[in-house]
Amino acid sequence: MTYMDERGEEDTLRLSVTRTWGNRTLPTNSYAWKKLRKQALSKSNFSCKFCGIKSKKWMVCDHVDGDATNNSIDNLGIICPICDLIRHCGRAGTQDQIILHKSKLPQIEIVSKSQEFWKNNGRVPNPEEIDGDVIRVSKSAMTFGNKLMKTDYEDLSDEDQSLRGFFTEKAGVIFNRIIPKSSFSISPHEDKSDADEPDEDELQRMYEDVFG
Ligand SMILES: [Zn+2]
Repeated sequence: MTYMDERGEEDTLRLSVTRTWGNRTLPTNSYAWKKLRKQALSKSNFSCKFCGIKSKKWMVCDHVDGDATNNSIDNLGIICPICDLIRHCGRAGTQDQIILHKSKLPQIEIVSKSQEFWKNNGRVPNPEEIDGDVIRVSKSAMTFGNKLMKTDYEDLSDEDQSLRGFFTEKAGVIFNRIIPKSSFSISPHEDKSDADEPDEDELQRMYEDVFG
C-alpha cells in the first residue's frame, strides 16, 4: 500500500488517496513483507505514527515516501486502521465509513476525539458531537477521493481543503478492532496470527470496481 503525498510530508494526517496501487513489489501475504512488517511494528513500538494509539493487531504498514517498491525499513511506517480510513478516503467512502464536513479542527484532532468518544460511549460520534461548528456538505468521500486521484492537495480550492473526514456508524467495526468494546483499553492485545493486515489486493479490486 502506498500513499501519494507529493511533498513527502507524512506527519500531518489529512484526507488522501492512494494513486499507486499498481507498483507494489511485495504482496502483503508474502513472507518477506510479513517479516518487514514485524520489524516496522517493533520499531514503532506498535504505535500509530499519527494518533499514537497502540495495538498489536490490525495495524497498517505503509510506504512513507509513497513508493511501494521502496521496501527499506526506513521507508515503512505504522498507522492504525482508523487513521488509515482518512488516508484512503475514497476507499473508506465506498464503504460509507467516513463522511465529509467542513470543520476548522485539524484532522488528527477529529480522529483523537472520535476515539475518545468511542471509549467513553461505545459508539461512533456524530460530527456535531466532535465539532459544534461543523458545516454539513453534500460532497461524498468517494467523489472527493476521485478528485484527489487527479489533483494534488495543494491545488484544491480553499473550500475543498476545509473538508475533514468524520466517521460513520459503519466505521464502528474498525474502531472495535483496535479499541475493543469488551475491554475499552488501548493496551496491546495478543497477536494470534499474521493475517491481521487488510488484504490489499482485495481492497484494490473493490476500489477499481468503483473508480474503474
Ligand atoms: Zn491512528
